[in-house]
Parts: sequence; structure tokens; C-alpha cells
Amino acid sequence: MTKKRFHIVFAFFVCFSLFFVSCQKADEKITEDTGLKRQIFAMDTIMELTVYGENAEKAMTAAAKVINRLDLLFSVTNSRSDVYKINSANGKPVKVEKETYELIKTSISYSEQTDGAFDISVYPLVKAWGFTTDDNHVPTEGEREQAREKIDYKKIRCLANNQIQLQKGMEIDLGALAKGYASQKVMECWQKIGVSSAIISLGGNVQTIGKKEDGSQYQVGITDPDDGTSLFGALPVENKAVVTSGIYQRNFTENGVLYHHIMDSKTGMPAANNLASVTVIADNGIEADALATALFVMGEEKIKKYQKNHPDIQVIAIRKDGTFWQSDDVQQLVVN
Ligand code: AMP
Ligand code: MG
Repeated sequence: MTKKRFHIVFAFFVCFSLFFVSCQKADEKITEDTGLKRQIFAMDTIMELTVYGENAEKAMTAAAKVINRLDLLFSVTNSRSDVYKINSANGKPVKVEKETYELIKTSISYSEQTDGAFDISVYPLVKAWGFTTDDNHVPTEGEREQAREKIDYKKIRCLANNQIQLQKGMEIDLGALAKGYASQKVMECWQKIGVSSAIISLGGNVQTIGKKEDGSQYQVGITDPDDGTSLFGALPVENKAVVTSGIYQRNFTENGVLYHHIMDSKTGMPAANNLASVTVIADNGIEADALATALFVMGEEKIKKYQKNHPDIQVIAIRKDGTFWQSDDVQQLVVN
């Protein structure tokens, strides 16, 4: 399908999404659609939360608590975080909170499923490209090799008693699935409280509960990777996470070449293929986030195979030339 046709099909949804986005600007307010809205800055991004119904206030307080706790555990730069302690342990085991332990174990299972395309031990490479220090530059081949030698998810040890042990020199970064984990945990918390309609947007990660108040489905906008700001299209979803990884999210240009933040540990370079973004639609936010990153690295042909073997997820892969591939179930979601 061409981008133009996609736009026509989604004309209605785009208008709707713009309306939705326009309702999310305020710090906190009751809008005309009676949803309670709040913004939280955490995990280096602005998080926008909207909850409908009588438990909204309680839900917001609970969500902020969940998000702030996870932000503190997973930060790579905060010296009080679990991840920081693991990375600076010099090869010794570190006892961590149960959420950190759970997320690291889950990360390893995605590495196994994606033949190492997803690998949280990629952090030395992310640093070599200056992505956490805001010192972006193309590292030398030697620097890339040095970083690559430290990457191997098979060497992350999940020991008894919630202890994690890395080999000396290794470092991890949960940035590729931390936001998905946060949105999933907020959703679980809200479901326990009895929230039946809500949407959360953490940067490129969106997750929803139920339907909108008027009985229609939530519309989730997909950013056009060409400019990183306009809408490529929108998807109607119910109880889903919709997560996008794309070259427009974090990047820099050197000598006219754009370098982005999604790393291929096999080459030591940002994943280079014909794709500009990959969106994964799944029931679970952690799965959607991990797979959006992993599938981006894997490229179009492997994405098609992976999705065929995992029909429970849906995928939209937008190419650099503006055309796209989407799995069959997305087509149904779109047309309906
Ligand atoms: P996302 O925006 O979810 O695709 O995650 C990208 C972030 O995850 C980057 O900024 C890095 O911190 C980290 N990362 C980069 N490449 C990988 C990879 N191949 N596997 C796991 N994490 C990665
Ligand atoms: Mg991700």
C-alpha cells in the first residue's frame, strides 16, 4: 500500500487523533470529555495519562507512584538506581528489586527469541555513539570493536535471591523496554483499581484500557518518520499497547549521514536497513516495546517471518521511501 492511500483511509482517524492530542496539552485538567489528564516527566520523556470514571484521581496518584519508582530503578545515570549499581559492580553480583530482576530476565528471553537483535548489554555501544552523554559522534572502528566485545546477553547471570551479575566491563541499558514495562505496570495497577477506560502515552509508547466514554475505540496516532512530527496514520485499538521505534526519535547527522539510536550489536553501527520505523501492536506493553526495537534491527524480511510465527502481535513497518508493510490483522483494524 502506498502512503497516499493510507492517508486517505485514515483521514477520519487523523482528525480524531489531532483532537485527542490537543486535549492532552494541559498539566492537569478536566476536559470537555470528562477524562482526567496529567503529565509526568520521567524516563527522559513527557508521559501523558488520561483516565475516565470515578476512580480517576486515585488512579493518577497510583500511576505516578509506579512510574517514579520504576524511573528510579531503571535509570542508567542515577547512581541510586539498580541499573547503575549493576553496571558499576565490577563483575560482582548485585541484589536488585524484584521489578528490575523480572525485567532483566524478560529482556534475556527477548534476546533469545530474536537471535540477539535485542540485547540490553548493548550499552557500551550506545555510549560509544554518545547517546546517553549528549556527545553524539561516530566512534572509530576500534572503539566500536571494543564496545562490541563487551556485548553478550548470554553472560548476564540472573542468580538466586534477586541478584544480577555481569562480567567485568559489561553494562546494561533497559531503555528499549523500560517505558513498555512502565505502561504495562500502570495498566495492571489501574485494572486492579477498577479503571475501565484509560490511555497512557509515554513518548512513542501508547497503551489503552477499554473504549472511550462514547463507546468508540481509542485512536492511536502513528508518527510519520519522515519528519517525526506529523501523523502518518492512526489505528483504532482496544486494550492494546502500540509502540514505535524509529530513526526519527533520537539521532544526529555527521557529514550528511543520519545516525540513530537503535543499535545492531553485530556491526557496532545503528541498524541499517530500508526501514524508518517499526510499530508493534500487542496485548502487553513490555512485549510491544521490546519487539519494536528488536524488529527494527532485524529488518523487513525477518519481521515478516517473525510476525507469521507470532500472529498475536501486529506490525506496521514504514520504509524510508514512505511506503509500508503491515501484517494482515492491522489491515482489518484499519478498514473497520
Ligand atoms: P527504543 O526507543 O525502545 O527502540 O529503544 C532504544 C534504546 O534502547 C536506545 O536508546 C538504547 O538505549 C537501547 N538500545 C539500542 N539498541 C538496542 C538493542 N539492539 N537492543 C536493546 N536495546 C537497545
Ligand atoms: Mg523499545
